[in-house]
Amino acid sequence: MYKKKILRLSLDDIDTQYYGCTTYALSQIIKELIPIGVSFIDYPHLVRLNPNIPWKTRGNGAVSIIFIYDNKDKVFEIANQIVYENYTKAAKKSTPAIILCEEESITKELINFSEEALYKVLSVKKAKSIIQKHNILYKTYGGDLGLIGALAALANPLTEHTYELICYRLPKNFGLPRKVDKESIIKMSEQTFPYTYNNYDPISKRILVTPHGNDPILFGIRGISPNKLVEAFNMIKVDEEISHFLIFKTNQGTNAHLNFPFKICDVKPYYSVKVKGHVRTNPIISNGGHVFFLLSDGTSEINCAAYEPTKAFRNIILQLRVGDYIEVGGGVRPPNRRYPLKLLNIEYINILELAEDYIYGNPLCPKCGHRTKSLGKNKGFKCKKCKSSFPNLIKEKKIIPRNITPGIYIPPPSAHRHLTKPIQYYTIDLRINAPFDESLFYRQFN
Ligand SMILES: [Zn+2]
Repeated sequence: MYKKKILRLSLDDIDTQYYGCTTYALSQIIKELIPIGVSFIDYPHLVRLNPNIPWKTRGNGAVSIIFIYDNKDKVFEIANQIVYENYTKAAKKSTPAIILCEEESITKELINFSEEALYKVLSVKKAKSIIQKHNILYKTYGGDLGLIGALAALANPLTEHTYELICYRLPKNFGLPRKVDKESIIKMSEQTFPYTYNNYDPISKRILVTPHGNDPILFGIRGISPNKLVEAFNMIKVDEEISHFLIFKTNQGTNAHLNFPFKICDVKPYYSVKVKGHVRTNPIISNGGHVFFLLSDGTSEINCAAYEPTKAFRNIILQLRVGDYIEVGGGVRPPNRRYPLKLLNIEYINILELAEDYIYGNPLCPKCGHRTKSLGKNKGFKCKKCKSSFPNLIKEKKIIPRNITPGIYIPPPSAHRHLTKPIQYYTIDLRINAPFDESLFYRQFN
C-alpha cells in the first residue's frame, strides 16, 4: 500500500527540571518501532546545540533517528503518543517538538540551519519558514520553541562524532539515589582509556557518568567506539535493576560549536566562537578567583575570562603576556555594568606564538660589576659598591623566561561542557564512522 522510504524523526525539549529526558522519550519510541518492522540505518543521533544560550539551561541536546519504513503516519502517531505522555507527566511544563520528514527534505538550507544552531541564536520564525517550505510534518506542545532544536537535530551530518551509551533506570527508581559502584567506574575508566572519556575526574575525584537530577538516566558512558562502550558497560557494577540502554552517535566531545572563526568586531552575545589575536593586557585575577585579560585582533577588543571552576587551567592563562598570539574558543556574554566590553568565556586556548617577556632594571657597574642605583629620571646611575657615577648609563632590558609552551590547553573534565573536545582527541580523527550494528545499539533488560 505504501512505498518504503527513508524517514527521519527528531525530538527536542521533552525534559523539564523535574521530569523527563528527550533521549529517554526517543528510546521509548524506538522500543515501539522495533516490533512494527522499522529498519534503522544508523545509531540514533544526539545533537548538542549552542551551549551558550542562557535560556536553554539544560544540556541543549536534541535527538533524531534515520530509518526505513512504509507508513509515515503510523510512526508519527507512535511518536506523538509517547511525547504527549511525557508532556503530561512533566505537568505540561516542557515545550516538546516532534518533526518527521522524508530524506528528500534534507536540503542544503536545512543542513545550514543545523550548522548555525551549533553556534548562533536562531529564531522559531526561521525554523517554521524552513518547515513550511520543505513539506515537513511537525507537532509541538506548550509553544514552538522546541522546533529549533528538533529541526537542527534532523539534518546535522555529525561529520566529527563520538558515541554515548545511555543506560536508563526503571520508573520505580526515578528520583532515588543511584546505586552505581564508584570503584568499578574508576577501573573501567582506566582500562578503556582512550576509547572512553570523562567518566571520572581524578583531580576533583568526581564521578562524571551519573547525572544528579530526577531524570531517568542511570549513567552515560562516552567514547569513540560503540563496541568499547558495550565492554565498558559490562564493567560497571550496579546495585539496582536497569531498564535498557541505547547507543547514540553524537557531536559531544568534538568542539562542534567552536568550529567557526570570527573577527572580534563580529562577535555577538550568546554566540559560540573562535577568535585569533594578540594579548593586550597581562592577565589579572579577581577576588572571586576569576582570571581576565584583553584580546585584540585589530578589528576590536574582547575581554577573555577563565572562571574559578576551571581551576588549574587558570594557571596557564595567568602565564600569558602582552603580545602573545593566541586562538581562543568559547561562549560570548553580553557587556554589563561591571564589564563594559563583550566577554568571552574561554573553553580552550591554542597558544600560537609567545612574545618576549622582559623587565627593565638598573645596569651593572662598568668598573666593578656590582649593581648600580638610579640617580633619578635621565640622571644616570651610581655604583652601590665603588660609588662611581655614570650619567650616560641607561636601564637594561632583562629577558624573563616563559613558563608555558605553545599548544592547546583546556579546563579539567569537571568544567567541560558536553561539546568540549577532550585533550586526547585533538590528535584522533573523529570523522571515522563505526559501521552501524543493529544488534548492538538497543538492549532491553527489564
Ligand atoms: Zn662599581
